[in-house]
Amino acid sequence: MDNGGNQKEKTAKDLIDAMEYANTEDRQLVTKAFDFAKKAHEGQFRESKEPYFFHVFETAKILAELGMGPVVVATGLLHDVIEDTAITKEEIEAEFGKEILFLIEGVTKLGKLKYRGLKRHTESLRKFFIATSQDIRVLIVRLADRLHNMQTLKYLSKEKQIRKSSETLEIFAPLAYRLGMRVISKDLEDLAFSFINPEKYKETQLLAKQITKRDMKFLEKFDRSIKKTLAKEKLRNIRTSFRVKGLYSLYKKLQRKDGDIEKIYDITALRIITDSVGDCYKILGIIHNTWKPLPGRLKDYIALPKPNAYQSLHTTIFTGNGGILEIQIRTNEMHEEAELGVASHISYKESNRGAAQSQLLWFKRFLPQIEYLKKSPEDGKTNGTTPDWVKKLGSECDNEEGEKLFDELKTDFFEHRVFVFTPNGDVIDLPINSSPIDFAYTIHTDIGKHLSGAKVNGKMASLDTKLRDGDIVEIVTNKSSKPTRKWLDVVKTSEAKRNIKSALKIKD
Ligand code: MN
Repeated sequence: MDNGGNQKEKTAKDLIDAMEYANTEDRQLVTKAFDFAKKAHEGQFRESKEPYFFHVFETAKILAELGMGPVVVATGLLHDVIEDTAITKEEIEAEFGKEILFLIEGVTKLGKLKYRGLKRHTESLRKFFIATSQDIRVLIVRLADRLHNMQTLKYLSKEKQIRKSSETLEIFAPLAYRLGMRVISKDLEDLAFSFINPEKYKETQLLAKQITKRDMKFLEKFDRSIKKTLAKEKLRNIRTSFRVKGLYSLYKKLQRKDGDIEKIYDITALRIITDSVGDCYKILGIIHNTWKPLPGRLKDYIALPKPNAYQSLHTTIFTGNGGILEIQIRTNEMHEEAELGVASHISYKESNRGAAQSQLLWFKRFLPQIEYLKKSPEDGKTNGTTPDWVKKLGSECDNEEGEKLFDELKTDFFEHRVFVFTPNGDVIDLPINSSPIDFAYTIHTDIGKHLSGAKVNGKMASLDTKLRDGDIVEIVTNKSSKPTRKWLDVVKTSEAKRNIKSALKIKD
C-alpha cells in the first residue's frame, strides 16, 4: 500500500478493481460516493500539498483491499465530509441512506477522542472505542483512516508525528491486533516505530534484512524438499509462503532476549497452507518424522486458539545443517482469518445476514471480560445473573437467530458500562449508574476520601448524579471532607464501597 500511484488521476474504477466482488449496484454506490466526496473536498489540501480527496480515496482503497464491501468502501470515501466540509447529515441521509450516515457519524465521533498518553487508561480507551462504535465496521474504517494518516505522517510537524505515533502504538495497533487484523496491526506498528525511534528502527531494519537474506536461500531449498516429502505422502493440495516478522515486534522481542538475535527463532517462518484440519496434523506428523523438532516449541493453536481467535500449528525444527526454522501450518480459512481477522468475516457478505453472525463471533471474544460472566469457584457454573442470550452462545444458531442474539448481546454489553472523562480527557470506565463518588474513588482513594463536590460537564452536580456516556467529571476536594453513610447507598463500584466502609469503620 504505497503512495506511488498518487501522481496519476484517481478513478472510481481503481476502487472497484481493488474490491473482491462488486455487482452493478455495488459499482454504482462506490462511483456515487467517489463523485460526491471528490466534489465535497474540492479546494481542500493536506499538509503534503496533495488534494484532501486523496486521503479519503486511499482510505477507501485500503478498505477495498481488506475485502470490504460497497457500503464500507463508500463510508471510507465519505468519512470526513461531515467533519470537514459543508455537507450536512440530512444531505448524506438523502443521498446515501441511514446506514452510511450511521457509519460516518460513528467514525466522526471516534475521531474526536483525544489521547493523553496515560498508560493506565489505554485499556479503558480501547474499551471506549469499542463501546462508541457499536458497529465493528466503524472501527475498521477508523483503522484504515489511521493507516493512511500514518503513511503520510512525514509531512506533519515533529511533535504531531510523535503524538500520533504513540497513539498508534498504544491504541490503534493493539486494537487491530485484538480484532485479528494482523496485516494492519503490523503496518501501523512499523510506521509508528519509524517515527518514535528512527535510530532503533534503522538498526532493526538492517538486522532483519541480513537475517532474511541468510534465511531466504535456505528457505527456498527447504521449501522444495518439504514439498517433495509431502508429495510422496500424496499431499499435493498445499501452498507455502514465507513470512518475515514485523520490525517493531522484532525490536520488542530483541529487548526481551537481551538483544541476542540467535535466541529468536521466528524472524522468518515458513507457512504451509492446506485444505483441511486433518491435513494440518498429517503434515505436522510428516515434518516431525523427517526433521527433529526443537523441544518445547510445538504449539497447537488449532485445538487451543489464541484469545484473538488465531489458529495454526506452530513448530520449530532443526533443518539438518545447523539451521533452525519455524513452521506454521494452517487451513485456507485460518490463514484468511489470521491475516484479516474480523474483516474476513464481514467482507463482501456485509449486505446479508452474515454480518450479524460474524460480529457475534467476534463479540464472543470479549465476553470473558464482562464481570458477571465470571464462573463461581465452587461449582464452575456461571452465576445466577447470567442473561439468557449468554447461555445460548454455546450452541450454534442460524442466521436469523444469530442476528437477534447479537442485538441482545450488544445492548447488554454496552448497557453495563459507562465511559466518562476527566477534565484532561482521560477515559474512566465505570459500571452503569455510577456516581461522581465512584468516579472519585476510581481515580484515587485520597480523592474519594476528601471528595466534597463534583462538576459534571462544567456544572455543579449532586453526588448521587448518575453519570452518562461522555460526561466530563471534575472532582472538588476538601481536606476536612469525609465519607458519609449515605454514600454507601449511592455507589456502584466495589472499590468505592470497600473504601467507604473502612473509613466509616463498618465491618462486612
Ligand atoms: Mn480521515
